[in-house]
Amino acid sequence: AKRSGTLGWVMYSAEAVEAERAAAALAEDLAAAVPEGQLRLLYQPIVALATGDLVAAESLVRWQHPRLGLLGPDKFIPAAERTGLINEIGAWVLGEACRQVGQWQAMLPPGRSMYVSVNLSPVQLEQPDLAAAVLAVLDRTGYDPRNLVLEITESALVDDRSAVPQLEELRRHGVRIALDDFGTGYSSLRYLTRLPVDILKLDRCFVNELNGEREGAAVAEAVIRLSQILHMDTVAEGIEHEAQATELTLLGYRNAQGYFYARPLPPAELEARLPRVGSA
Ligand code: C2E
Ligand code: CA
Ligand code: CA
Ligand code: CA
Repeated sequence: AKRSGTLGWVMYSAEAVEAERAAAALAEDLAAAVPEGQLRLLYQPIVALATGDLVAAESLVRWQHPRLGLLGPDKFIPAAERTGLINEIGAWVLGEACRQVGQWQAMLPPGRSMYVSVNLSPVQLEQPDLAAAVLAVLDRTGYDPRNLVLEITESALVDDRSAVPQLEELRRHGVRIALDDFGTGYSSLRYLTRLPVDILKLDRCFVNELNGEREGAAVAEAVIRLSQILHMDTVAEGIEHEAQATELTLLGYRNAQGYFYARPLPPAELEARLPRVGSA
């Protein structure tokens, strides 16, 4: 970046205008994404640390843009939240995830089960009819609510307590709630005992700090203690190395996900990893 006199700044500001125009164009294209069938879901396995068995899949959305190719959520979720399109996108994601995972459940050997974990934006939590909308999707797809986990971030719940009765209604139907990126939203410890939460997802920055020493495990250890006292389940995120998995197992974590096990996968690849009838 050149900052040689006035010209440098003029050039910079022309670039900024161009970036803004591109962002506005992208936000406009986004309106077509659901009606034109341009959204895709990837599924990242969640495994039991003790056995490596698949216990769940987290759905992660992608946008197959007609000109720009495959876009990650960081490229379009913020715009979707600003324009309100996130409600339409979120409804599509939930319906598609339930349809797909319901199909996989029917392929599992007797006695095996899996759940699907679906991300909800803070904007979706503001919908006054959120519970009704989720229940309508479950009804339409015939999906068992006990095999659905909704992932929300702690700040969303603390900022907007109006979502709490909606989530409580969903929990009465068997849907479970996970606090995503747990530990990164410092303010919520104060409310944790009163929030409708079933699962804590330890953020991957704390998994990164694991180094075989007590200090490195400080937050991971505090979160597992918290989960035990509050009778919540745990998922550790972002496991990239076997040593991290070993340490998390020793700390008492039950489930985990991360590149060490699998990247987010297209449906056919996740399907190929399902436990089969006849295998152990
Ligand atoms: P998240 O919910 O925390 O999802 C985990 C993200 O971490 C995913 O990125 C995943 O690919 C990545 N990840 C998984 N394992 C590892 C690992 O071992 N190492 C590292 N470095 N990264 C790992 P992705 O798919 O790009 O999603 C980013 C974020 O976008 C998600 O973060 C979530 O907040 C949001 N998102 C994704 N799908 C949806 C959706 O359907 N609806 C909404 N509202 N948000 C979504
Ligand atoms: Ca998540
Ligand atoms: Ca997360
Ligand atoms: Ca995240």
